[in-house]
Amino acid sequence: MNKKKLFSLLPSVDEVLNDKIIIELIKEYPRSLVVDTIRKNIDNIRKNIINLEEDQLNNFSIDYDKFINNISNELRLSYSLSLKKVINATGVVIHTNLGRSLLADSIKEEVWKVASRYSNLEYDINKGKRGSRYSHLEEIIKNITGAEDVLVVNNNAAAVLLVLSTMSKNKEAIVSRGELVEVGGSFRIPKVMEESGAILREVGATNKTHMSDYEDAINENTGVLLKVHTSNYRVLGFTGSVDIDELSRLSKEHDIPVIEDLGSGLFIDISKYGLSYEPTVIDSLKKGADVVTFSGDKILGGPQAGIIVGKKEYIEKMKKNQLTRALRVDKLTIAALEATFRLYLDEKKAVEEIPTLRMLTYSMDKLNDKARKLYEIIKNQNLDIDIKIEDGYSQVGGGSMPLETIDTKVITIVPKNMGVSELEEKLRLSEDSIVARVYDNKYVLDVRTIFDDEFESISKQLTNALK
Ligand SMILES: *Cc1c(COP(=O)(O)O)cnc(C)c1O
Repeated sequence: MNKKKLFSLLPSVDEVLNDKIIIELIKEYPRSLVVDTIRKNIDNIRKNIINLEEDQLNNFSIDYDKFINNISNELRLSYSLSLKKVINATGVVIHTNLGRSLLADSIKEEVWKVASRYSNLEYDINKGKRGSRYSHLEEIIKNITGAEDVLVVNNNAAAVLLVLSTMSKNKEAIVSRGELVEVGGSFRIPKVMEESGAILREVGATNKTHMSDYEDAINENTGVLLKVHTSNYRVLGFTGSVDIDELSRLSKEHDIPVIEDLGSGLFIDISKYGLSYEPTVIDSLKKGADVVTFSGDKILGGPQAGIIVGKKEYIEKMKKNQLTRALRVDKLTIAALEATFRLYLDEKKAVEEIPTLRMLTYSMDKLNDKARKLYEIIKNQNLDIDIKIEDGYSQVGGGSMPLETIDTKVITIVPKNMGVSELEEKLRLSEDSIVARVYDNKYVLDVRTIFDDEFESISKQLTNALK
């Protein structure tokens, strides 16, 4: 056998296009993509032939089935979307890298209707005239928070930017040194303040800020007092900060508005469910914050959004700020947010249907139940592994409640014929993209963030990976 002879064995693109399997693939994928993929695979074999040594020539053959199989796999990969569903087995409920909050199943239809059909997005049906896209959210958010007025923008970083730009441009915004936080993705409060045109006036020390620190800093060029909820870290030990109700008293004395950036939008007291207390939006307003900002996709459990609630006089001004146009929310966000807020009209319903709240408040019985189910399904495969149900800890995530570890149940797996990290990689790269932790040389699946309808996929991919 010589190379020339081998080249003559290569199929032509046209021949491959007549293959039964390829004919089926052309029904599924664009023809041009199929042709390109065939050509690339033929080229690969050609290159292999070119690189053959003399003594390898006689042993070389073209594995036609493998060739067709490669084409099929490559087509599937290159045609799949980059943004796709993954299985979150990490137990981090609000996982910023994995899409933060999940929307409730029950709002699916409402969102899809607005997405796929015309809507009254900026049309007042009663008057037959142009309306405002923000009107759809106003009543329900006012109703739930008790606020005078509402404005919704793209995310909470944008909310803080807009609030400061409107209320403190070229004026000093007084903020405690203990609250100059960076939240994930390098969003830094001091940087945002700079961008907004507000002048940062830091007071106090990292661990302690007193009322008198704020008081001493107030002057004729003070724009606002700003309180930032340090969502993602805690200063422990000898610490002290000024609560929003005290700041509000000071703000009234000096006729300077006070803003609170809460980070997470909480509407129910989650300490009832065994988690530690976090300030709710309603508390913050009741205690006298003039304006409060929070995220739509942290504990609130809605779509990405930044929600601003508070006094009408300030929010009216924000609505007229040119930045608002640049930060405006899409109709999908409005639809999803309105439908999510509607669930909050009934706390029980909110906790049952909003995935973020449901996962955070699972009872130990429920977790045990989930763990046993997943354990049985995997156990039935008779795989070459050590598998156990163990106690573990989940996290809230999303830069919320950093110290909170919630008791959970995990499935731990130790494969007998493979390293744990190899298993982790195989499952991550599998068709179902399973993201889990490796801890203590075990593969750890936290059932808190796994949906029951994902158990079969995990078992199937595990079986494949161990083959
Ligand atoms: C998360 C967070 C933000 C940023 O919110 P995004 O919705 O992610 O833009 C701002 N401030 C605080 C205190 C936060 O915790």
